[in-house]
Amino acid sequence: MAGHLCACGCGNKVITPLGPAEWAFSEVCGRPTLRPSIGNWQLPCRSHYVIADGCVQWAGQWSDAQVLAGRRAEERRRQSHYAALNRKRGLWNRIWTWLRRIFGR
Ligand SMILES: [Zn+2]
Repeated sequence: MAGHLCACGCGNKVITPLGPAEWAFSEVCGRPTLRPSIGNWQLPCRSHYVIADGCVQWAGQWSDAQVLAGRRAEERRRQSHYAALNRKRGLWNRIWTWLRRIFGR
C-alpha cells in the first residue's frame, strides 16, 4: 500500500494498493513515482493526476462514464493477471506431479 495526501490540497488521504495488477511505486533520490494515474473520483475534488519523479502532473477530468469504463478496464487487467498466474501455477503443479511420478519412489 502507498498513501499520500491528495495533490489538490483538499487534505484527503489517498491509499493505493501496490502490486503487479495495481499501482507501481518507485523512488529515485527521494523523488517518488506512482503509476498509473490517480483518479480520486470518490472524493469531492475528483482530482486526477500522475506522480512522476516527485512532481504532480495534472490529468484531465473524467466523466462518470469514463470513470466506469476505467474501473472495468482495471478489473479486466486484474482478472487476466490472476488468470495467468493460476495457469502458471497449474503448469508447475503438473510438472511437479510428473517429476514425483518419475523420481518419487
Ligand atoms: Zn483533493
